[in-house]
Amino acid sequence: MKLTNIGTVKSLMEKHGIRFQKKFGQNFLIREEIPMRIADECGACEDDCVLEIGPGIGTLTRELCSVAGKVVAVEIDSGLIPVLKETLADFDNVEVINSDIMKIDLNALYEEKFKGKDVYVCANLPYYITTPILMLLLESRLPFKKMTFMVQKEVADRLSSNSKEGDYGAVTASVSYYGKVEKLFNVSAGNFMPAPKVDSAVIQITLYDEPPVKVVDEKLFFRVIRAAFEQRRKTLINALSGKMDISKEEISDAVIEAGLDPNVRGERLDIAEFAKLSDIIKRKQTEK
Ligand code: SAM
Repeated sequence: MKLTNIGTVKSLMEKHGIRFQKKFGQNFLIREEIPMRIADECGACEDDCVLEIGPGIGTLTRELCSVAGKVVAVEIDSGLIPVLKETLADFDNVEVINSDIMKIDLNALYEEKFKGKDVYVCANLPYYITTPILMLLLESRLPFKKMTFMVQKEVADRLSSNSKEGDYGAVTASVSYYGKVEKLFNVSAGNFMPAPKVDSAVIQITLYDEPPVKVVDEKLFFRVIRAAFEQRRKTLINALSGKMDISKEEISDAVIEAGLDPNVRGERLDIAEFAKLSDIIKRKQTEK
């Protein structure tokens, strides 16, 4: 069964009486080499498991089933479940769960389906919810080996940039606390049905065993990052003032103590600098 064939996609959808659901970010891959390459590069081998998010009609899922020992695919759209039953019928190493990935108990899923195995995450992510899904997986602290995602090209560029580059943002800094991001390849919009308005790219995140920086208060660390980027045109001192439960003078002192230029903008800080600054702010908050 060739699910990248436009005629096959159309007839499957017609047969099951379903339409593309824009609200679920449904853009299905219609070029065979792409799901093959993603499955190939995701890192999973025959002894490993894969968690796939959003299998759609099963295009990438079939390729993942060919390389991995077991695939668990979580799909929100109940209309696609009968389609997946048909398109994945010749594989006995796949389980489809009809659920919203944002609402699933990831720890319980991991324990129940993957215990004792190496687990890889792989997805052509729905664009409307890319960052929340990414952060959910990272913040779960589950020991996924690698995560390979198709995302909007713009998001891929942002995630794989560094503090010296224009694309760098709060999400770049936050994600870099959990893992190393690498851009694998670009995929133009014409490779999907329906074609999205923007191009895409595949990225891979290799999780760190330990974060690259140690912080006293992780919640505060992420709060400082968010506040610094919320008003990126402002200096770091102005962007943080009123948001850290200490005075503007104390923020200014903290910025100087961290060895930073008082006129620096938040978007120039790497995570080591954010870590140092948030630890000083934490100390100042506790001294109060
Ligand atoms: N994997 C297929 C492919 O590559 O052709 C489809 C990818 S499509 C971009 C995104 C898929 O994610 C859709 O099947 C959509 O229904 C599903 N989806 C959207 N939001 C979801 C959520 N919150 N939880 C699980 N699946 C979701």
